[in-house]
Amino acid sequence: MGDGFWFEQAATIPGHLGRTGVIHTPHGDIATPAFIVVGTQATVKGVLPRDVREAGAQAVLANAYHLYLQPGADLVDEAGGVARFMGWDGPTYTDSGGFQVLSQGAGFKKVLAMGTQGLTSDDVIAPGKDRLALVDDDGVNFRSYRDGSRHRFTPEISMRIQHQLGADIMFAFDECTTLMNTREYQERSLDRTYAWALRCLSEHKKLTDERVSKPYQGLFGVVQGAQYEDLRRKAARDLAEAEVDDQMFDGFGIGGALEKENLGTICAWVNEELPPDKPRHLLGISEPEDLFVAIEAGADTFDCVNPSRTARNGRVYTDAGKYNVDTLVNKRSFTPLDDDCDCYTCTHFTRAYLHHLTRAKELLLYTLMTIHNERYHIRLVDRIRASIEQGQFADFRDEFLGRYASGNR
Ligand SMILES: [Zn+2]
Repeated sequence: MGDGFWFEQAATIPGHLGRTGVIHTPHGDIATPAFIVVGTQATVKGVLPRDVREAGAQAVLANAYHLYLQPGADLVDEAGGVARFMGWDGPTYTDSGGFQVLSQGAGFKKVLAMGTQGLTSDDVIAPGKDRLALVDDDGVNFRSYRDGSRHRFTPEISMRIQHQLGADIMFAFDECTTLMNTREYQERSLDRTYAWALRCLSEHKKLTDERVSKPYQGLFGVVQGAQYEDLRRKAARDLAEAEVDDQMFDGFGIGGALEKENLGTICAWVNEELPPDKPRHLLGISEPEDLFVAIEAGADTFDCVNPSRTARNGRVYTDAGKYNVDTLVNKRSFTPLDDDCDCYTCTHFTRAYLHHLTRAKELLLYTLMTIHNERYHIRLVDRIRASIEQGQFADFRDEFLGRYASGNR
């Protein structure tokens, strides 16, 4: 791996692929498993970097597509990279923009755990709506969601943008398919994603050599293959062995269409094929029950917009299940959102106050709720990590899930 970037595995879950470890980056270490907070537009919506740090976040993930459109990757480069630009003094990730570009194609449904709760028009493009993205073997043409202007992403362009953004961990540009695509399409798409992966490695190597004064940025290959075991395993093996000019992937992302009930199975197929000495990121999950499944199956890091998106709608996560602070039962409830939580919101405010903020439509609601939900997810993954270190993963999982499932309302 590159200078200043490496992974070490520590404890394991006996009989499973799950493990603890440390991802070393030029901007700091990430103890895994870890929940990575999403800051799509170089901001975690509604909260200060100081709050994000205090909530225990180890790293923030921004989005190459959004930052390319606004303010432009060259501007972020001029500012010293995404971390410095947004005032975050820790490791950062950028995703390649592939998902955002391609999810503008028709009929796209986001990967997982998407009930109607928290779903927005960003996630689903209704059949018959105009396609904003068209894929060919060389790249993707798309129109900006902001002003309709025409753009093109290729593996080389995505790598250049991500080098300018300067995150510690970047993702290869891939084609993200849907569960609605045919098996034949998935096979063709996988060939295309593999060819793009090699082009990403080549461009990454070139840019790394050109930009010698910059800290090394790790590049993760993204494993696609939808719900097909043979395709997933082949994609993982091919990416694990991919090498261009002595450049290999520094880690891997598990992407694409996953149904909740297949999450653990698919993760295990992929992680059985991937080398244990490199980190694995699962894109786009956050529900507590999914985190346990993914970690047991060997995923090291996760990201999801869901904790902050649901927070802005008044949805509260606790060990005893989820609830809405907006409901009448909270109007005179002078207790914290979550009795077991140590976050700023839970140690300073009551449910009654948060309930008032929802009814008064006050902006502070976004800040306080986001602090709690992000802290909740970060701390849950921290507790899972501790349970693996102590050899008590299965006990912790069973106890947690029993209480969590019975309390959802
Ligand atoms: Zn809290």
